Amino acid sequence: MKMTVTLLSSGLLALALTGCASQPAREAQQQLGQQSVLAVNWFQQSGEYQALTWQAFNAAQLAFDAAPSLTGKPKAVIVDLDETMLDNSAYSAWQAKNGQPFSAQSWSAWTRAQQALAVPGAVDFAHYVTSHGGTLFYVSNRDQKDYEATAANMKQLGFPQVTPQTMRLSTDSSNKQARFDAIQAAGYNVVLYVGDNLNDFGGATWHQGNAQRRAFVSQNHQRFGTRFIVLPNPLYGDWESGMAENYNKLTPQQQLSTREAQLRAWSGK
Ligand SMILES: [Mg+2]
Repeated sequence: MKMTVTLLSSGLLALALTGCASQPAREAQQQLGQQSVLAVNWFQQSGEYQALTWQAFNAAQLAFDAAPSLTGKPKAVIVDLDETMLDNSAYSAWQAKNGQPFSAQSWSAWTRAQQALAVPGAVDFAHYVTSHGGTLFYVSNRDQKDYEATAANMKQLGFPQVTPQTMRLSTDSSNKQARFDAIQAAGYNVVLYVGDNLNDFGGATWHQGNAQRRAFVSQNHQRFGTRFIVLPNPLYGDWESGMAENYNKLTPQQQLSTREAQLRAWSGK
């Protein structure tokens, strides 16, 4: 009995066995989902979101053109996929409506359904790069086992250069630095990184807390808009798990408390 209680109090197990989660855990998970509703509404409904993505890709195009060419080294652009080129907000909406945490299983099912949309401006930018002598590398932490479904979804949306050579999905680590290094080592002049997560700009912030993540931004502030292009993503990201050590292993109740504790609020009149 003691062991049962100990195991049930483990957030990891509570998340892994959603069907067996306690009533308070289920209610907390529902509440976590409800807190995402306005972010999903903004992402799916606002013109402002779409204006920001166009702004990002217009800046990316200018930066691509302005980057100096190096003799013998073809220009390359490294882009992330999810919430950079692909809009998966219907998966976030499903989570919010059903009180579901992220899981590798449901994410893979969503991926295989091939219902992701293109982020506004993404397809145009991809064609601009490839029609102006550039190579586009899609470096994503989607799982390699979902390569075929991802490639089919992207081709159907009109993305160019979708090949096993240019689309580098995750095979071991979610730290993208090794994949970035391999592209450089293959002789490419990587002029631009495009993503919605600081991880998309190198390994420096991988698994770091938000204080370190903000410090990275401060230290590299001159690169944003020229070498690093950021897409807005209020739905999820390492900024959320950056709010507490082992955030993804906390119980839903602990995650709710963490979110509340991290608010910087006016004390009131
Ligand atoms: Mg992403």
